[in-house]
Amino acid sequence: MSWILRPALLVAGLLAMASVRAEAGKVENTTVQESTSSLIQLAALAGQALEPARLLITRLAGVDAGLLLATAQAHAMQALHAADPARAAWHDVAQLAQLAGNAKAQMRAIEQQAEMNLLLSDYAAASRQADALLALARREHANNYEASAHGYYGVVARRRGDLDAALEHYTLAIGMLRHSGDEFRLALMIGNLGTVFRDRGDFARALELQLESLAIRERIGDHLETTLRNIALLYREIEDEDNARRYFERALAAVDRHANPERYASVIGSYASLLNDVGDHAAALGAAREALAIDSGLGNRANQGLERLEIGRALHGLDEDTEAAEQLESALEIGRRLGQHEIVARALLSLAEINQIQHNSLRARGMIDEAIAGLETALLRPQLARAYALREKIALADRDPATALRFLRLYSEQRELLIGTRASRQLGVLQARHARAEADKDLALLQKDNELQAVRIDKQDVERQLGMVGLVGLLLALFLISWRFQGMRQLNAALRLKNDEIDAKSQALALANLHLEQRASELYRAAISDPLTGVHNRAHLRELIEDRIAHCWPSAVPLAVLLIDFDHFKQVNDQLGHLHGDRVLLAGVASIRECLRSGDILGRFGGEEFVVMLEGARAVAAVEVAECVRAQVQLSLAGIDTGGIAVTVSVGIALLADLAKAEQASVDALLDASDRAMYLAKAAGRNRIARFSTAAAARGDMENA
Ligand code: GH3
Ligand code: MG
Ligand code: MG
Repeated sequence: MSWILRPALLVAGLLAMASVRAEAGKVENTTVQESTSSLIQLAALAGQALEPARLLITRLAGVDAGLLLATAQAHAMQALHAADPARAAWHDVAQLAQLAGNAKAQMRAIEQQAEMNLLLSDYAAASRQADALLALARREHANNYEASAHGYYGVVARRRGDLDAALEHYTLAIGMLRHSGDEFRLALMIGNLGTVFRDRGDFARALELQLESLAIRERIGDHLETTLRNIALLYREIEDEDNARRYFERALAAVDRHANPERYASVIGSYASLLNDVGDHAAALGAAREALAIDSGLGNRANQGLERLEIGRALHGLDEDTEAAEQLESALEIGRRLGQHEIVARALLSLAEINQIQHNSLRARGMIDEAIAGLETALLRPQLARAYALREKIALADRDPATALRFLRLYSEQRELLIGTRASRQLGVLQARHARAEADKDLALLQKDNELQAVRIDKQDVERQLGMVGLVGLLLALFLISWRFQGMRQLNAALRLKNDEIDAKSQALALANLHLEQRASELYRAAISDPLTGVHNRAHLRELIEDRIAHCWPSAVPLAVLLIDFDHFKQVNDQLGHLHGDRVLLAGVASIRECLRSGDILGRFGGEEFVVMLEGARAVAAVEVAECVRAQVQLSLAGIDTGGIAVTVSVGIALLADLAKAEQASVDALLDASDRAMYLAKAAGRNRIARFSTAAAARGDMENA
């Protein structure tokens, strides 16, 4: 166990040291270079110390245990930014993984080896690892590792100035990664492809790709600074200084200089290049020196070359040409050693400028010619233009007008191309920005749409709830209404029953009233009528006569009374019986009626005596009526059995106007007058009429009608 524990503890110790040193670097403000280089030495020692332990573990505990330990060791080295020991450790991991038959671990280890080799600018080794990775990935059908291999080919090709090959490899890699879900590698490859387009001068396409890469990295939250730096470099190319600075500052803010010093160095080194371009040489010098310190600690030689180049340019800008030349020579040396045309050409260009100023025209010419050859290969147009201009100046100084003219032409050509490229690239960038703004707008619209949708859903929810509440309310209301309605119906039914009852009772009452009225009227009629003949009885007759006298007397309306007495009636009764006498009486009354009209009044005065009262014109014609009565009775009764006795009537007529003035208003006086007249008729032989007259009455006789 102690064989396993000891190396494990050692690794843990190393990791702890790494973090402590990194923290200390932050607090004490020691340079990153100091902390990293001492750690690298320590890590190298630790790696050597671990070697025998690991071999023993592999022999005792098997390949898997050895692989585990080697991987931990490699990670520890990498965490310490010890590129060389890490590269060696990953080499061991790859071999152990192959032994263990763990292809995935082997591919991961080869990838890490390639990364370390790129960091150390060992492009030949990086290419070999790419070959191994490609073969293994194809065998294992691991698309993402195959893409990774193409990525390494691309990096190497680009650094060697073969942009076509780089473009081909990155495009292949992106195609493989598009639908793999491996966003980390995809963002990396898209960013790399963007860099190739930048090198080519297609800035619009480059910006588009970098923005795409940035979007992916923002999503996965990784390596933001690389993309931000690439975008900054693009802005530098189109001479948009403000945006370039802005993106550099964003890139610097996105990377932790202590946790990821190599990334930090890469960003600040590029920033130095921008600062030189815009003439801020003092700031450029500080930035380039900081980057150089870190990269020296890390052993990144390619970057050291670039950083020395920027330091040289900055010093040249600050008129410290001797020191500048030293740095540029150093950059040139690194560029030549690594075969990086860009570093070589740019270093030569700056050196040629210095030599030209120092009137060392021979050296300047040699350098500028070599620079031009390199820049023409790498097609770095801005530098190329600068180189042609310088070459023209040297030719003029050399009094070589033909060469001067040739380079002036080349310079103009390049300027024209540059201006054209710049115009088109600025246009392209504008288009890319526009496309991005449109995409952002679409996204915002989509979000708005989503918000609207959410609001709509919320609204529908509220509406549904309101609907439910409404429905429940409606049901409740319906229930209440039906309940009330039921109650009302019962009430109505009860009311109807009561009404029916009342109606029935009302009808019964009405009927009873009718009966009562009929009875009352019968009683009244009986009270005022003669039971045998149905004419007015004596009492009522008197009332009627009294009423008419009261009416007629003041207005002198004529009024007459006829007193009708049946002749010898006693004999009829005696001979035929009383009942038969009644029948004769009834027939006699019927005969009297035949002479009367509506408005004339007929009543029974008593026994076989009847009274007729006539008013108005009829009273004037009283004699005619009396004669009619007499004649009619005689005629009618002649037709019925009277036992041989001629039953006739004697009629006494008295007119109100005929009465003595003092007696005029009295019923008795009028009846008495008619009675007197009737006796006169009797006395004259019966079956006749007689009219009362005052004079005759005074004489003691009456006028015989
Ligand atoms: P005169 O010609 O003088 O009038 O003779 P008279 O017989 O008619 O008169 P009297 O006064 O002597 O008799 C009247 C008779 O009338 C007496 C009575 O029996 C009869 N009489 C009265 N009322 C009724 C009645 O209601 N029915 C019947 N059958 N007879 C009646
Ligand atoms: Mg009589
Ligand atoms: Mg009589």
